Amino acid sequence: MKIALISDIHSNLEAFSEVLRDIKRRGITRIICLGDIVGYGANPNECVDLIKKMKIKSVQGNHEFYCQDLGQLEEFNPYAAEALSWTHHALTKENLAFLAKLPKTMEIEGIFFAHGSPRDPTDEYVYDDVSIDEARLFFDKAKTEIIALGHTHIPFIKRFGDKMIFNPGSVGQPRDGNPKASYCIFDTKTKTVEMQRVEYNIKKAADKIMEAGLPLILSSRLYRGR
Ligand code: ZN
Repeated sequence: MKIALISDIHSNLEAFSEVLRDIKRRGITRIICLGDIVGYGANPNECVDLIKKMKIKSVQGNHEFYCQDLGQLEEFNPYAAEALSWTHHALTKENLAFLAKLPKTMEIEGIFFAHGSPRDPTDEYVYDDVSIDEARLFFDKAKTEIIALGHTHIPFIKRFGDKMIFNPGSVGQPRDGNPKASYCIFDTKTKTVEMQRVEYNIKKAADKIMEAGLPLILSSRLYRGR
């Protein structure tokens, strides 16, 4: 069976819709999300509604967590804090409550899912330079041989013998220098990961961010994928 893994949609409806089209075109029906459905972009409710409509299981990202209670924004950079506050006020009560109830971690088909890491599911950043000692700790915590993470917006696959840690990159706010939406397909039989990139209407998403009065950098960085 093939599962599409998406992460860090960040209220980018244009990127999310195009990725869903690409997944459908491949005949894949199972989709799992690694968190940060909202934050930064101009369509938080539309993106949450799509997650619900498609019955996509998702873990909770840092944006879902910190947009609930705006009393903890001082550790964020100013534009992230502004976007979190904007998102908090834009979200409907139902959608805010839906995001509050998302699990921090999940295990499906032998894969452990967290937004950050098995040690700190909400906030830790894990990159492809993860050491073998750290990986060992993560696999101990996860109790699976496969770990899928989001949060960094940078796709990678790292193998440790039979074990593997990977990140599908970001649907709505890529930061690896490639502005196309990123996601991946996991094959449960072969235990392989295939990274995908999808073109979408960046200008439309970027213009909406400007019109919403969100920080300009959140709009301009979509063109650069940084
Ligand atoms: Zn994110």
